[in-house]
Amino acid sequence: MVWVTLKKAAKYLFRRPYTRMVPKSEPPFKTDHTRGRHILDLNKCTGCSLCKMVCPANAIDMEHIEVEEGKYPQNKKKIFPRIDLHKCTYCGLCVEYCPFSALSMTDVTGFELFTTDKSTTLKHPQELAVPPESKYRVTITKAMFLGVLQNPQVKPAGKGGSHG
Ligand code: SF4
Ligand code: SF4
Repeated sequence: MVWVTLKKAAKYLFRRPYTRMVPKSEPPFKTDHTRGRHILDLNKCTGCSLCKMVCPANAIDMEHIEVEEGKYPQNKKKIFPRIDLHKCTYCGLCVEYCPFSALSMTDVTGFELFTTDKSTTLKHPQELAVPPESKYRVTITKAMFLGVLQNPQVKPAGKGGSHG
């Protein structure tokens, strides 16, 4: 019996692993509609808090930010969403329900978001307003949920759309 087990184990010793070598070698799997790290448009957000209300993962809370006089006049209280990417399930509801199209999502996901420091997963409004460092694409917008506009960065399926 032991011999049979050892034989089986030896067989698998020289096979490639079925698991992917993340984060060392292979890029994360992405599609044209991958839901990854958010982008926040501070010039559109009114601070209505709807994104916080619809978030099923309780990943969003509202944060007051100090800004110079006259900036972001549409947001009287100067409160904007703060998103904890550690809690986020990337469902996209906050993007879908934002009445002002202030939130969208990029294809920055997988190991690009890996960290050993959990405190860095809490993204403040000003951080969300800055595009992620790596080469990213906006993949999910409010307009796409409404079906009224094709994301210009994503080519229509069947016409050479990339899956990079
Ligand atoms: S991101 Fe959209 S839903 Fe969230 S507070 Fe701003 S305007 Fe409201
Ligand atoms: S994508 Fe979903 S889970 Fe993540 S912050 Fe938005 S609503 Fe919450």
